[in-house]
Amino acid sequence: MRKMSAVKVPHHKNTAGMASERVTPPDEVLLPLVFNAHRVIPNEPVVAVGDHVYVGQLIAEARDKSTAPLHATVSGTVVSIDEDAVVTSGKVKAIRIKSDGKMEKDPTLKAPVVNSVEEFLAACKDSGIVGLGGAAYPLHGKLSAILKAPIKTVLINGAECEPYITCDHRTMLENAAEMKAGIEQLKKWLKSEKFVIGIESNKPDAIAYLRDYFKDDSSVEIKKLASVYPQGAKQVLLFNATGIIVKKGERLAAHGVIIMNVTTLAKMGEFFTTGMPYVERTITVDGSAIANPRNIVIPIGTSIDYAVKQCGGFKAEPGRIILGGPMMGKTVDTLDAPIAKATNAIVALAEKDCLELKETPCIHCGKCVEHCPLNLNPMMFSNVMELKNDDMKAMMLENGAINVCMECGSCSFVCPAHRPLAATNHTAKGFLKKYQAAHAEAQEGGSKK
Ligand code: SF4
Ligand code: SF4
Repeated sequence: MRKMSAVKVPHHKNTAGMASERVTPPDEVLLPLVFNAHRVIPNEPVVAVGDHVYVGQLIAEARDKSTAPLHATVSGTVVSIDEDAVVTSGKVKAIRIKSDGKMEKDPTLKAPVVNSVEEFLAACKDSGIVGLGGAAYPLHGKLSAILKAPIKTVLINGAECEPYITCDHRTMLENAAEMKAGIEQLKKWLKSEKFVIGIESNKPDAIAYLRDYFKDDSSVEIKKLASVYPQGAKQVLLFNATGIIVKKGERLAAHGVIIMNVTTLAKMGEFFTTGMPYVERTITVDGSAIANPRNIVIPIGTSIDYAVKQCGGFKAEPGRIILGGPMMGKTVDTLDAPIAKATNAIVALAEKDCLELKETPCIHCGKCVEHCPLNLNPMMFSNVMELKNDDMKAMMLENGAINVCMECGSCSFVCPAHRPLAATNHTAKGFLKKYQAAHAEAQEGGSKK
């Protein structure tokens, strides 16, 4: 089968052999009411300052179908509901809980009892689980695709192609029982028949372990994939694991397939077994500035600073601290920001490893086009963004399918002129979104006259 274009990036999977270790919970957590810059309707707090809360207790309801409820991740007291808390996506409203150090679980929690697909989706919503592969889209939102069309195949993403990050790898080695519990729920309520777990070849232990673990279940296939970047990107994984290509404007579910991150699946299995909503996760803390890289289990809402201290602190002045991996992660400028639901890693690179490469003019080598997995033309997008005429700019970006760009960074990585192509694409997508919204509004205004 033809493979999509890809790049070879250094793996740096230094923590792959390190089991997840639960660390002493922090003294306080900060839980934003907006999980993601794209989710504009904040959750509604259902607790007040001074309230005592247990681990797993609901503290904020979702008011929008694109978000998920929020639960206390430590037991203790709500000390503030900050209007302008600093998180990685800017300043948002957030609930601060001071821990009582007991980590007492909500005594009312129990495994959900489900009798229909609607109740199953409602339970998924109650779990507070979001997509843990990066997009943070709520689990119930994704699975509600079943209400429109059958989902025959669930593609489970265990590729973890970003350098440094190994927490999904650890999930596959440590949480197969929870993964199995998740698969059983999907079989029961979605009536899915095939489960393909896609894993890069640089995780031979996970491939061997899961093949053995699921050997008596013919509905589960462990698919070994090449260790190339961005193997874990939705479109790339889908094509390489199933041969399916989703055309522009088409929905993945129309092919009877959904894609789910491996840790999302395990967290779902855990929730349906124990009733404990999504309150903690394993993150990888690594990079040349970290003293003792490791995989740690911490409550959501723990500060970056606390997580780094659990790994021995910095051994060198960090030049760049990234939430997520170096290809698609987000650089942060404050250690006070909390670990979000979908944060899978903190990568801190020493100053000496963060040399700014000087951008030079494009030499038209074509490498960015050649290596784009989606056959886009990043060089063209970059040139278009120089145009002064907004109408022309919007038309060319739209025709070039800028919105399809998944900002994987492969084009920037291979560009010999060190052009920030993926970052430019991000700006271009923002420009096009605003342009289209302004035009839709103008048209609507015109049609009302
Ligand atoms: S960032 Fe976008 S344009 Fe660049 S390689 Fe990835 S998908 Fe293609
Ligand atoms: S890789 Fe860089 S130098 Fe080569 S065509 Fe693309 S933008 Fe130009």
